[in-house]
Amino acid sequence: MDLTPSLLRALTDGTFEAWVVAQGQPPFRRKQVERWVARAATDFEQMSDLPASLRATLKRDFALRSSRVIRHLRDADGTEKLLLEWPDGARIEGVLLREGHRRTICLSTQVGCAMGCVFCASGLEGLERNLRSEEILEQALRLVECLDPQERLSHVVVMGMGEPLANLDALLPALDWMASPRGFGISARRITVSTVGLPGAIRRLARHSRPYRLAVSLHAADDTLRARIVPVSRSTGIASLLEAVDDYFRATGRRLTFEYVLLGSINDRPLDARRLARLLVGRTALVNLIPYNPVPGLPYRTPAPTAVRRFREILEEAGIEVRGRKRKGARIDAACGQLRRRSRDGREILSTGGGVE
Ligand code: SF4
Repeated sequence: MDLTPSLLRALTDGTFEAWVVAQGQPPFRRKQVERWVARAATDFEQMSDLPASLRATLKRDFALRSSRVIRHLRDADGTEKLLLEWPDGARIEGVLLREGHRRTICLSTQVGCAMGCVFCASGLEGLERNLRSEEILEQALRLVECLDPQERLSHVVVMGMGEPLANLDALLPALDWMASPRGFGISARRITVSTVGLPGAIRRLARHSRPYRLAVSLHAADDTLRARIVPVSRSTGIASLLEAVDDYFRATGRRLTFEYVLLGSINDRPLDARRLARLLVGRTALVNLIPYNPVPGLPYRTPAPTAVRRFREILEEAGIEVRGRKRKGARIDAACGQLRRRSRDGREILSTGGGVE
């Protein structure tokens, strides 16, 4: 295992600045190095505006990457997916999505997941470990490496493997670097953090200095059904989740997004849509309806197109803004956790299952 300290860690924990000073280098050298990092340089030798001696010292003291790309899959629709392995053998997935001018990366925050959402491949074997800040950032950089020279990263969504709010200590330094002019310089409103809804952590995020967008994975509008689909919600009723979410809106002014995965004949009935409408009416919110993509080994079905249409109509008739997400990456197991699972099972990688929404 390579024990050379990670440059990305030094950038996210703020110690790189002290290192630059300790080398007797002027502060602008730090900016130069960070500019190269943000451009996804993979070798210190690429940092052509640094003196050769500084490049050599950087190489001696730091590693730029510690992950291995185990799989790199590309879909005809422009979606790319990476399966990364860390030196301890932990594997995670990251996705690059192309839509019009948008270039969005979708990041994982944990290896596996403890939330146990019944329809999800990522949570099937539970939580292996949290990702560290530098690993979250490296994942982002690996995906930025996939961009063509004329393309620019425009959005970051933290919707991959894991529950982001269960790993906020690591996530926030990584996102803050991405949002800062020192990093990718992406506005906080183009960075979305998704959660199944941990009220304490939502309030902590509301107090954070950068107002990232929040997406809440609701999947049901009554406590009984939600506890069945999102088992972790048994201890947190929908009412207390919505109180925390309202606090978030008051603190940040950011419109909220509610994610709703439609599972055929489970939560896609007109009754479910009416309950959801009653719950959200009067809130500044957008609902993302996501027809389920079957995961091999799980018993859930894609909803009928007529059920999806009716569900949407009921919400819109109540004045709620709705977006239906397009299926992306259908040929590359792009739905959260599927590629990692297949690679571990030793099964065929390229398949028609899955899809990033
Ligand atoms: S949907 Fe998200 S929170 Fe739920 S088990 Fe999967 S990765 Fe975890």
